[in-house]
Formats: sequence, structure tokens, C-alpha cells
Amino acid sequence: MIRLNGAAAEKDFLSRVIEKSGQNLLACIQCGKCSGGCPISSAEVGGPRRLVAQILYGAKQEALRDPTWWYCVACGTCMTRCPVEINMYQVATALCEMAEHENVQPSEPNIHLFEELFLKSVERHGRANELKVVMNFNLKTRQPFKDMGQGLKLMRKGAISPGEMLKGGRADERVKRIFSRISSRSSSKADEKGTGE
Ligand code: SF4
Ligand code: SF4
Repeated sequence: MIRLNGAAAEKDFLSRVIEKSGQNLLACIQCGKCSGGCPISSAEVGGPRRLVAQILYGAKQEALRDPTWWYCVACGTCMTRCPVEINMYQVATALCEMAEHENVQPSEPNIHLFEELFLKSVERHGRANELKVVMNFNLKTRQPFKDMGQGLKLMRKGAISPGEMLKGGRADERVKRIFSRISSRSSSKADEKGTGE
């Protein structure tokens, strides 16, 4: 059951999301198959079905603050399960742009820091070095011992090898080319906007 917390539904919100994402959200039958397979769905996060319901109700503020799309890992499971093939990643991208435009703060305040560390790790090692990413994130957010218990359990089971992970590999030329393309695209976008970043 969706609660709007007394917020007024914004009539044009649904049509704006449909237009920006290119997804026909009106076809959603609220079957919940998307949330059933979504790896980030939980009581706290909600999931794609609830997010679509918020958009259909025109609950703009709730949808822009909903943690589902901030946490979405673009795995595509929801789309493969959806009987009307709604691509949630396109919806998440549309909401991300709208939230940025309207200065809405993420529901998880450190999510941009995590993204930054994750991408730096991929740029450097050619893949995310989970151990380094988590360690750096915990250090930067001043909670150095947060995942220590979990880490020790995984080590005892042989699921992770800290020596190997801390050493890490190096990104090859293909990965470097991808990052340099992204960086030049961002610079041209900044130039177009006149921000000159
Ligand atoms: S699977 Fe598709 S139709 Fe079903 S609730 Fe999710 S988005 Fe709607
Ligand atoms: S694409 Fe995002 S919303 Fe869809 S199942 Fe994966 S994590 Fe969940």
C-alpha cells in the first residue's frame, strides 16, 4: 500500500517521467514480478513496483527521494520479468536527472562517495576491488570497523583473500579508453552548459 504522506500529487509528473524515460508506465499492472527478483528490494528500500506506483500516483517528492533508484544496480532483472517490459534503468536515469535538476538530496547521503570510489577502483584495476572499495568507504565515512566482523567470516570461509585483493590487478588499455571517452564527453557537456568544469 502506498502512502502519500499528505503530499499533493503532481499531475504532470507521470507524463514527464514517461516522456523522459521512454517507458509506458501506464501499462504497469502492479504485479510485483519486478520487485520479486530485484536484488535491492527490501522493507527499507521498497523496490521497483512501489516506485512505479508512486510515479503513477504523481507522488513526485516521494518518487524522487525513493531509495530504489538511488541503489539500482542496473542488473535488468526487473525488465526481464516484467510482462510489459518496463525498463527500470531508463526510469531510474530519468528520475536521477530530475532529482539533480531539482536539487533533491539522496536518501543515502554517502551514495555519491561510494559511486566515486567504485568507479576509481574500476578505472585503476579494471574491475571493482570490493575489499579496497569497502575499506576506503568505511575510512572516509569514519566507521573503520563497520564491516570487520563480516570480512573475518568471509576470510575464514576462504571466500576472500585480503593479500590478493589488496594487491589487485591493473586496468588494460580498453578500460582506459572507456574512461577517457567518458571524461572527454563530460568536459564537452560542461562546456556546452558553460560551467567549464
Ligand atoms: S513487473 Fe512490470 S507490470 Fe509488474 S509491477 Fe513491475 S513494472 Fe509493473
Ligand atoms: S535493474 Fe535496478 S530496479 Fe531492476 S532489478 Fe536490477 S537493481 Fe532492481
